[in-house]
Amino acid sequence: MSEAISVTRALFDDVMVPNYNPANFIPVKGEGSRVWDQEGREYVDFAGGIAVNCLGHCHPAMVNALTEQGQKLWHLSNVLTNEPAIRLAKKLTDATFAERVYFANSGAEANEAALKLARRWALEVHGEEKQQIIAFQKGFHGRTFFTVTVGGQAAYSDGFGPKPGAVEHVEYNDLASLEAIMSDKTCAVMMEPMQGEGGVIPGDESFLKGVRELCNKHNALLIFDEVQTGFGRTGSLYAYQQCGVTPDILTSAKALGGGFPIGAMLTTAEIAAHLKPGTHGSTYGGNPLACAVSEAVMDVVNTPEVLDGVKRREQMFRDAVQAINEKYDVFTEVRGQGLLLGAALNDKFKGKAREFLLAAAEHGLMVLIAGADVVRFTPSLVIPETDIAEGMQRFEKAVAQVVSSHG
Ligand SMILES: *Cc1c(COP(=O)(O)O)cnc(C)c1O
Repeated sequence: MSEAISVTRALFDDVMVPNYNPANFIPVKGEGSRVWDQEGREYVDFAGGIAVNCLGHCHPAMVNALTEQGQKLWHLSNVLTNEPAIRLAKKLTDATFAERVYFANSGAEANEAALKLARRWALEVHGEEKQQIIAFQKGFHGRTFFTVTVGGQAAYSDGFGPKPGAVEHVEYNDLASLEAIMSDKTCAVMMEPMQGEGGVIPGDESFLKGVRELCNKHNALLIFDEVQTGFGRTGSLYAYQQCGVTPDILTSAKALGGGFPIGAMLTTAEIAAHLKPGTHGSTYGGNPLACAVSEAVMDVVNTPEVLDGVKRREQMFRDAVQAINEKYDVFTEVRGQGLLLGAALNDKFKGKAREFLLAAAEHGLMVLIAGADVVRFTPSLVIPETDIAEGMQRFEKAVAQVVSSHG
Protein backbone atom coordinates (compact mmCIF):
# COMPACT_ATOMS: atom_id res chain seq x y z
CA MET A 1 0.00 0.00 0.00
CA SER A 2 1.25 3.49 -0.78
CA GLU A 3 1.76 5.96 2.05
CA ALA A 4 -1.12 8.38 2.65
CA ILE A 5 -0.33 11.86 1.35
CA SER A 6 -1.04 14.80 3.64
CA VAL A 7 -2.80 17.21 1.26
CA THR A 8 -2.20 20.85 2.15
CA ARG A 9 -2.13 24.18 0.37
CA ALA A 10 1.63 24.27 1.02
CA LEU A 11 2.06 21.02 -0.91
CA PHE A 12 0.43 22.73 -3.91
CA ASP A 13 3.43 25.03 -4.19
CA ASP A 14 5.81 22.07 -4.03
CA VAL A 15 4.19 20.04 -6.80
CA MET A 16 2.32 22.42 -9.11
CA VAL A 17 3.50 24.74 -11.85
CA PRO A 18 3.12 28.22 -10.32
CA ASN A 19 0.71 29.68 -12.91
CA TYR A 20 -2.16 29.73 -10.38
CA ASN A 21 -2.31 31.20 -6.90
CA PRO A 22 -5.36 29.49 -5.35
CA ALA A 23 -7.05 30.46 -2.07
CA ASN A 24 -5.49 29.12 1.11
CA PHE A 25 -8.37 26.74 1.87
CA ILE A 26 -9.07 23.50 0.00
CA PRO A 27 -12.73 22.63 -0.68
CA VAL A 28 -13.58 18.95 -0.40
CA LYS A 29 -17.36 18.80 -0.82
CA GLY A 30 -20.18 20.76 -2.42
CA GLU A 31 -23.94 20.56 -2.45
CA GLY A 32 -26.17 23.08 -4.23
CA SER A 33 -24.64 26.50 -3.57
CA ARG A 34 -22.74 25.48 -0.44
CA VAL A 35 -19.16 24.22 -0.27
CA TRP A 36 -17.13 22.80 2.63
CA ASP A 37 -13.36 22.87 3.04
CA GLN A 38 -10.95 20.43 4.69
CA GLU A 39 -11.63 22.00 8.11
CA GLY A 40 -15.38 21.63 7.70
CA ARG A 41 -15.85 25.38 7.20
CA GLU A 42 -18.87 26.12 5.06
CA TYR A 43 -19.01 28.66 2.22
CA VAL A 44 -21.85 30.11 0.17
CA ASP A 45 -20.87 29.93 -3.49
CA PHE A 46 -21.55 33.07 -5.55
CA ALA A 47 -18.70 32.13 -7.96
CA GLY A 48 -20.02 28.88 -9.40
CA GLY A 49 -16.60 27.76 -10.61
CA ILE A 50 -16.38 30.90 -12.82
CA ALA A 51 -19.85 30.67 -14.37
CA VAL A 52 -19.57 26.90 -14.78
CA ASN A 53 -21.64 25.23 -12.05
CA CYS A 54 -24.98 26.41 -13.45
CA LEU A 55 -26.91 23.86 -11.40
CA GLY A 56 -24.74 24.19 -8.31
CA HIS A 57 -22.65 21.34 -6.93
CA CYS A 58 -23.63 17.69 -7.36
CA HIS A 59 -27.08 18.36 -8.82
CA PRO A 60 -29.00 15.04 -8.85
CA ALA A 61 -29.76 15.27 -12.60
CA MET A 62 -26.03 15.52 -13.33
CA VAL A 63 -25.00 12.86 -10.82
CA ASN A 64 -27.57 10.49 -12.34
CA ALA A 65 -26.48 11.17 -15.91
CA LEU A 66 -22.81 10.70 -15.00
CA THR A 67 -23.29 7.47 -13.05
CA GLU A 68 -25.66 6.01 -15.64
CA GLN A 69 -23.34 6.79 -18.54
CA GLY A 70 -20.34 5.80 -16.42
CA GLN A 71 -21.66 2.26 -16.26
CA LYS A 72 -22.31 2.07 -19.98
CA LEU A 73 -19.53 3.64 -22.03
CA TRP A 74 -16.82 6.20 -21.27
CA HIS A 75 -14.84 6.84 -24.39
CA LEU A 76 -14.52 5.80 -28.01
CA SER A 77 -12.61 8.56 -29.87
CA ASN A 78 -14.05 10.12 -33.00
CA VAL A 79 -13.31 7.05 -35.08
CA LEU A 80 -16.76 6.13 -33.78
CA THR A 81 -19.71 8.25 -32.79
CA ASN A 82 -21.95 7.81 -29.75
CA GLU A 83 -25.56 8.34 -28.72
CA PRO A 84 -25.14 11.10 -26.10
CA ALA A 85 -23.16 13.26 -28.56
CA ILE A 86 -25.75 12.94 -31.31
CA ARG A 87 -28.62 13.60 -28.89
CA LEU A 88 -26.90 16.69 -27.44
CA ALA A 89 -26.14 18.06 -30.91
CA LYS A 90 -29.78 17.54 -31.90
CA LYS A 91 -30.97 19.43 -28.82
CA LEU A 92 -28.50 22.29 -29.38
CA THR A 93 -29.48 22.69 -33.03
CA ASP A 94 -33.20 22.52 -32.20
CA ALA A 95 -32.77 25.27 -29.61
CA THR A 96 -30.62 27.72 -31.62
CA PHE A 97 -29.94 29.19 -35.08
CA ALA A 98 -27.30 26.52 -35.61
CA GLU A 99 -27.58 23.46 -37.83
CA ARG A 100 -24.22 21.81 -37.07
CA VAL A 101 -22.17 21.24 -33.92
CA TYR A 102 -18.49 20.51 -33.27
CA PHE A 103 -17.63 19.29 -29.79
CA ALA A 104 -14.46 20.19 -27.91
CA ASN A 105 -13.37 20.01 -24.28
CA SER A 106 -13.13 23.66 -23.29
CA GLY A 107 -13.96 27.20 -24.29
CA ALA A 108 -10.56 27.86 -25.76
CA GLU A 109 -10.81 24.77 -27.95
CA ALA A 110 -14.30 25.70 -29.14
CA ASN A 111 -12.95 29.16 -30.05
CA GLU A 112 -9.87 27.68 -31.71
CA ALA A 113 -12.21 25.62 -33.89
CA ALA A 114 -14.32 28.70 -34.68
CA LEU A 115 -11.28 30.72 -35.75
CA LYS A 116 -9.83 27.92 -37.86
CA LEU A 117 -13.22 27.37 -39.48
CA ALA A 118 -13.56 31.09 -40.26
CA ARG A 119 -10.13 31.14 -41.91
CA ARG A 120 -10.93 27.99 -43.91
CA TRP A 121 -14.28 29.36 -45.00
CA ALA A 122 -12.72 32.64 -46.11
CA LEU A 123 -9.90 30.95 -47.99
CA GLU A 124 -12.20 28.57 -49.83
CA VAL A 125 -15.03 31.00 -50.56
CA HIS A 126 -13.17 34.30 -51.05
CA GLY A 127 -9.45 33.59 -51.47
CA GLU A 128 -6.23 34.21 -49.54
CA GLU A 129 -6.62 37.96 -49.18
CA LYS A 130 -9.47 37.53 -46.73
CA GLN A 131 -7.57 36.81 -43.52
CA GLN A 132 -8.14 39.64 -41.10
CA ILE A 133 -9.67 38.71 -37.76
CA ILE A 134 -10.96 41.61 -35.69
CA ALA A 135 -11.63 41.33 -31.98
CA PHE A 136 -11.98 43.72 -29.06
CA GLN A 137 -9.80 45.20 -26.37
CA LYS A 138 -10.35 43.51 -23.01
CA GLY A 139 -12.02 40.57 -24.77
CA PHE A 140 -11.22 37.08 -23.52
CA HIS A 141 -11.36 33.95 -25.66
CA GLY A 142 -9.12 31.39 -23.95
CA ARG A 143 -5.46 30.54 -23.55
CA THR A 144 -4.37 28.64 -26.65
CA PHE A 145 -1.95 30.74 -28.66
CA PHE A 146 -4.51 31.63 -31.36
CA THR A 147 -7.32 32.43 -28.89
CA VAL A 148 -5.10 34.39 -26.52
CA THR A 149 -3.87 36.41 -29.51
CA VAL A 150 -7.45 37.18 -30.52
CA GLY A 151 -8.24 38.09 -26.91
CA GLY A 152 -7.68 41.74 -26.15
CA GLN A 153 -5.25 41.67 -23.24
CA ALA A 154 -1.58 41.92 -24.13
CA ALA A 155 -0.71 40.78 -20.59
CA TYR A 156 -2.00 37.32 -21.52
CA SER A 157 -0.60 37.07 -25.04
CA ASP A 158 2.82 38.74 -24.84
CA GLY A 159 6.00 36.95 -23.90
CA PHE A 160 5.57 33.78 -25.94
CA GLY A 161 7.30 34.74 -29.17
CA PRO A 162 5.71 35.28 -32.59
CA LYS A 163 1.91 35.29 -32.61
CA PRO A 164 -0.56 34.12 -35.24
CA GLY A 165 -0.93 37.01 -37.70
CA ALA A 166 -3.66 39.19 -39.20
CA VAL A 167 -5.38 39.72 -35.85
CA GLU A 168 -6.45 43.25 -34.90
CA HIS A 169 -8.22 44.85 -31.98
CA VAL A 170 -10.56 47.80 -31.57
CA GLU A 171 -12.42 49.26 -28.64
CA TYR A 172 -15.59 47.46 -27.50
CA ASN A 173 -18.88 49.33 -27.95
CA ASP A 174 -17.18 51.67 -30.44
CA LEU A 175 -18.71 50.98 -33.83
CA ALA A 176 -16.86 53.77 -35.62
CA SER A 177 -13.42 52.33 -34.86
CA LEU A 178 -14.55 48.90 -36.06
CA GLU A 179 -15.95 50.40 -39.25
CA ALA A 180 -12.67 52.23 -39.83
CA ILE A 181 -10.57 49.06 -40.03
CA MET A 182 -13.09 46.70 -41.61
CA SER A 183 -12.93 45.90 -45.30
CA ASP A 184 -13.55 43.04 -47.68
CA LYS A 185 -10.30 41.57 -46.32
CA THR A 186 -12.00 41.00 -42.99
CA CYS A 187 -12.56 37.29 -42.48
CA ALA A 188 -14.34 37.41 -39.12
CA VAL A 189 -15.23 39.53 -36.14
CA MET A 190 -15.02 37.65 -32.84
CA MET A 191 -16.68 39.04 -29.75
CA GLU A 192 -18.43 38.32 -26.49
CA PRO A 193 -21.99 39.75 -26.56
CA MET A 194 -21.14 40.82 -23.00
CA GLN A 195 -17.51 40.91 -21.93
CA GLY A 196 -17.00 38.75 -18.85
CA GLU A 197 -13.34 38.64 -17.81
CA GLY A 198 -12.87 42.16 -19.18
CA GLY A 199 -15.05 43.65 -16.42
CA VAL A 200 -18.66 42.55 -17.05
CA ILE A 201 -19.34 45.01 -19.86
CA PRO A 202 -22.59 44.50 -21.79
CA GLY A 203 -22.50 45.15 -25.53
CA ASP A 204 -24.92 47.96 -26.40
CA GLU A 205 -27.77 46.70 -28.54
CA SER A 206 -27.07 49.29 -31.24
CA PHE A 207 -23.39 48.29 -31.24
CA LEU A 208 -24.18 44.58 -31.61
CA LYS A 209 -26.60 45.31 -34.44
CA GLY A 210 -24.06 47.58 -36.09
CA VAL A 211 -21.38 44.87 -35.93
CA ARG A 212 -23.80 42.44 -37.60
CA GLU A 213 -24.51 44.95 -40.37
CA LEU A 214 -20.79 45.60 -40.98
CA CYS A 215 -20.16 41.85 -41.17
CA ASN A 216 -22.95 41.53 -43.73
CA LYS A 217 -21.59 44.45 -45.74
CA HIS A 218 -18.06 43.01 -45.91
CA ASN A 219 -18.98 39.32 -46.13
CA ALA A 220 -17.29 38.61 -42.81
CA LEU A 221 -18.39 36.01 -40.30
CA LEU A 222 -19.67 37.13 -36.92
CA ILE A 223 -18.44 34.84 -34.15
CA PHE A 224 -20.14 35.16 -30.76
CA ASP A 225 -18.09 33.75 -27.91
CA GLU A 226 -20.84 32.74 -25.49
CA VAL A 227 -18.57 30.61 -23.33
CA GLN A 228 -19.45 32.76 -20.30
CA THR A 229 -22.80 34.29 -21.33
CA GLY A 230 -24.29 31.05 -22.65
CA PHE A 231 -26.38 28.21 -21.31
CA GLY A 232 -28.92 30.20 -19.34
CA ARG A 233 -26.54 32.64 -17.67
CA THR A 234 -28.29 35.79 -18.93
CA GLY A 235 -31.83 34.44 -18.68
CA SER A 236 -32.14 32.93 -22.17
CA LEU A 237 -30.35 29.79 -23.39
CA TYR A 238 -27.89 32.05 -25.25
CA ALA A 239 -27.49 35.80 -24.89
CA TYR A 240 -27.85 36.37 -28.66
CA GLN A 241 -31.48 35.32 -28.32
CA GLN A 242 -32.21 38.48 -26.32
CA CYS A 243 -30.20 41.04 -28.28
CA GLY A 244 -31.76 40.65 -31.71
CA VAL A 245 -28.49 39.68 -33.42
CA THR A 246 -27.75 36.21 -34.76
CA PRO A 247 -24.09 35.23 -35.22
CA ASP A 248 -22.72 32.90 -37.90
CA ILE A 249 -20.71 30.89 -35.39
CA LEU A 250 -21.34 30.58 -31.65
CA THR A 251 -19.11 28.97 -29.07
CA SER A 252 -20.23 27.51 -25.77
CA ALA A 253 -18.46 25.88 -22.82
CA LYS A 254 -18.36 26.62 -19.06
CA ALA A 255 -22.05 26.13 -18.02
CA LEU A 256 -22.55 23.81 -21.00
CA GLY A 257 -21.16 20.98 -18.89
CA GLY A 258 -22.20 22.35 -15.50
CA GLY A 259 -18.80 21.27 -14.16
CA PHE A 260 -17.87 18.48 -16.57
CA PRO A 261 -15.36 19.65 -19.19
CA ILE A 262 -17.00 20.19 -22.58
CA GLY A 263 -17.06 22.87 -25.26
CA ALA A 264 -19.04 23.26 -28.45
CA MET A 265 -18.94 25.30 -31.63
CA LEU A 266 -22.28 25.87 -33.32
CA THR A 267 -22.77 27.08 -36.89
CA THR A 268 -24.82 26.79 -40.05
CA ALA A 269 -24.66 23.82 -42.41
CA GLU A 270 -23.21 26.01 -45.16
CA ILE A 271 -20.29 27.27 -43.09
CA ALA A 272 -19.75 23.92 -41.36
CA ALA A 273 -19.23 22.28 -44.76
CA HIS A 274 -15.73 23.80 -44.85
CA LEU A 275 -14.51 21.58 -42.00
CA LYS A 276 -14.25 18.54 -44.23
CA PRO A 277 -13.06 15.16 -42.88
CA GLY A 278 -9.54 15.49 -41.54
CA THR A 279 -9.38 19.29 -41.33
CA HIS A 280 -9.80 19.53 -37.56
CA GLY A 281 -10.39 17.25 -34.60
CA SER A 282 -9.96 16.26 -30.98
CA THR A 283 -9.45 12.93 -29.23
CA TYR A 284 -11.92 13.67 -26.44
CA GLY A 285 -14.34 16.02 -28.23
CA GLY A 286 -17.87 14.62 -28.01
CA ASN A 287 -16.88 12.17 -25.28
CA PRO A 288 -19.98 10.19 -24.12
CA LEU A 289 -19.58 11.09 -20.42
CA ALA A 290 -19.32 14.82 -21.16
CA CYS A 291 -22.23 14.78 -23.60
CA ALA A 292 -24.48 12.75 -21.30
CA VAL A 293 -23.89 15.21 -18.46
CA SER A 294 -24.37 18.23 -20.74
CA GLU A 295 -27.63 16.79 -22.06
CA ALA A 296 -28.92 16.42 -18.51
CA VAL A 297 -27.87 19.99 -17.71
CA MET A 298 -29.65 21.28 -20.81
CA ASP A 299 -32.86 19.42 -19.95
CA VAL A 300 -32.98 21.33 -16.65
CA VAL A 301 -31.60 24.72 -17.75
CA ASN A 302 -33.55 25.21 -20.97
CA THR A 303 -36.92 25.46 -19.26
CA PRO A 304 -39.06 28.52 -18.45
CA GLU A 305 -38.81 27.73 -14.71
CA VAL A 306 -35.03 28.00 -14.65
CA LEU A 307 -34.65 30.82 -17.19
CA ASP A 308 -37.35 32.99 -15.55
CA GLY A 309 -35.79 32.14 -12.20
CA VAL A 310 -32.51 33.67 -13.40
CA LYS A 311 -34.23 37.02 -13.89
CA ARG A 312 -35.86 36.84 -10.45
CA ARG A 313 -32.52 36.03 -8.82
CA GLU A 314 -30.80 38.81 -10.77
CA GLN A 315 -33.18 41.29 -9.11
CA MET A 316 -32.44 39.83 -5.67
CA PHE A 317 -28.70 40.23 -6.25
CA ARG A 318 -29.13 43.78 -7.49
CA ASP A 319 -31.38 44.78 -4.58
CA ALA A 320 -29.04 43.25 -2.00
CA VAL A 321 -25.89 44.86 -3.42
CA GLN A 322 -27.67 48.19 -3.65
CA ALA A 323 -28.78 47.97 -0.01
CA ILE A 324 -25.20 47.20 1.06
CA ASN A 325 -23.92 50.05 -1.08
CA GLU A 326 -26.34 52.53 0.49
CA LYS A 327 -24.68 51.81 3.83
CA TYR A 328 -21.03 51.62 2.76
CA ASP A 329 -20.73 53.54 -0.54
CA VAL A 330 -18.17 51.39 -2.38
CA PHE A 331 -19.76 50.74 -5.79
CA THR A 332 -20.71 53.01 -8.69
CA GLU A 333 -23.08 50.54 -10.34
CA VAL A 334 -24.09 46.92 -10.77
CA ARG A 335 -23.65 45.91 -14.42
CA GLY A 336 -24.51 42.84 -16.40
CA GLN A 337 -27.47 40.65 -17.15
CA GLY A 338 -29.05 37.63 -15.49
CA LEU A 339 -26.58 35.97 -13.16
CA LEU A 340 -23.46 37.47 -14.73
CA LEU A 341 -23.22 40.59 -12.61
CA GLY A 342 -20.39 42.97 -11.86
CA ALA A 343 -20.32 45.50 -9.02
CA ALA A 344 -17.94 48.25 -10.13
CA LEU A 345 -15.87 49.85 -7.37
CA ASN A 346 -15.90 53.63 -6.97
CA ASP A 347 -12.76 55.80 -7.08
CA LYS A 348 -11.98 55.28 -3.41
CA PHE A 349 -11.81 51.47 -3.83
CA LYS A 350 -10.61 51.20 -7.45
CA GLY A 351 -7.95 48.53 -7.85
CA LYS A 352 -8.99 46.78 -4.63
CA ALA A 353 -11.44 44.14 -5.93
CA ARG A 354 -9.19 41.35 -4.65
CA GLU A 355 -9.46 42.71 -1.08
CA PHE A 356 -13.22 42.19 -1.28
CA LEU A 357 -12.76 38.65 -2.60
CA LEU A 358 -10.38 37.76 0.24
CA ALA A 359 -12.58 39.36 2.90
CA ALA A 360 -15.60 37.50 1.51
CA ALA A 361 -13.75 34.19 1.82
CA GLU A 362 -12.89 35.02 5.45
CA HIS A 363 -16.60 35.42 6.09
CA GLY A 364 -17.56 32.19 4.31
CA LEU A 365 -18.46 33.47 0.85
CA MET A 366 -16.95 32.76 -2.54
CA VAL A 367 -17.12 35.63 -5.06
CA LEU A 368 -15.08 36.45 -8.17
CA ILE A 369 -13.45 39.54 -9.54
CA ALA A 370 -13.29 40.76 -13.15
CA GLY A 371 -10.12 42.81 -13.34
CA ALA A 372 -9.01 44.90 -10.37
CA ASP A 373 -12.07 47.16 -10.21
CA VAL A 374 -15.06 44.82 -10.35
CA VAL A 375 -16.50 42.26 -7.93
CA ARG A 376 -18.21 39.60 -10.04
CA PHE A 377 -21.08 37.26 -9.18
CA THR A 378 -21.73 34.17 -11.31
CA PRO A 379 -23.67 31.83 -9.01
CA SER A 380 -25.66 28.73 -9.80
CA LEU A 381 -28.73 29.54 -11.91
CA VAL A 382 -30.85 27.68 -9.35
CA ILE A 383 -29.24 29.07 -6.20
CA PRO A 384 -31.89 28.92 -3.43
CA GLU A 385 -33.19 32.31 -2.33
CA THR A 386 -32.16 31.55 1.26
CA ASP A 387 -28.56 31.07 0.08
CA ILE A 388 -28.66 34.43 -1.71
CA ALA A 389 -29.83 36.06 1.53
CA GLU A 390 -27.22 34.26 3.66
CA GLY A 391 -24.45 34.99 1.15
CA MET A 392 -25.36 38.68 1.02
CA GLN A 393 -25.24 38.91 4.83
CA ARG A 394 -21.70 37.55 4.63
CA PHE A 395 -20.88 39.90 1.77
CA GLU A 396 -22.03 42.85 3.88
CA LYS A 397 -19.63 41.81 6.64
CA ALA A 398 -16.82 41.54 4.08
CA VAL A 399 -17.60 44.98 2.66
CA ALA A 400 -17.72 46.45 6.19
CA GLN A 401 -14.33 44.91 6.93
CA VAL A 402 -12.68 46.29 3.78
CA VAL A 403 -14.22 49.73 4.37
CA SER A 404 -13.05 49.90 7.98
CA SER A 405 -9.55 48.74 7.03
CA HIS A 406 -9.29 51.84 4.84
CA GLY A 407 -10.74 54.00 7.67
C1 LIG B 1 -13.66 31.21 -19.82
C2 LIG B 1 -13.78 31.76 -21.18
C3 LIG B 1 -13.08 31.18 -22.25
C4 LIG B 1 -12.07 30.07 -22.08
O1 LIG B 1 -12.69 28.86 -21.70
P1 LIG B 1 -11.74 27.67 -21.18
O2 LIG B 1 -12.71 26.57 -20.93
O3 LIG B 1 -11.05 28.17 -19.96
O4 LIG B 1 -10.79 27.37 -22.26
C5 LIG B 1 -13.29 31.70 -23.52
N1 LIG B 1 -14.13 32.72 -23.72
C6 LIG B 1 -14.82 33.31 -22.71
C7 LIG B 1 -15.76 34.43 -23.00
C8 LIG B 1 -14.65 32.86 -21.41
O5 LIG B 1 -15.30 33.46 -20.40
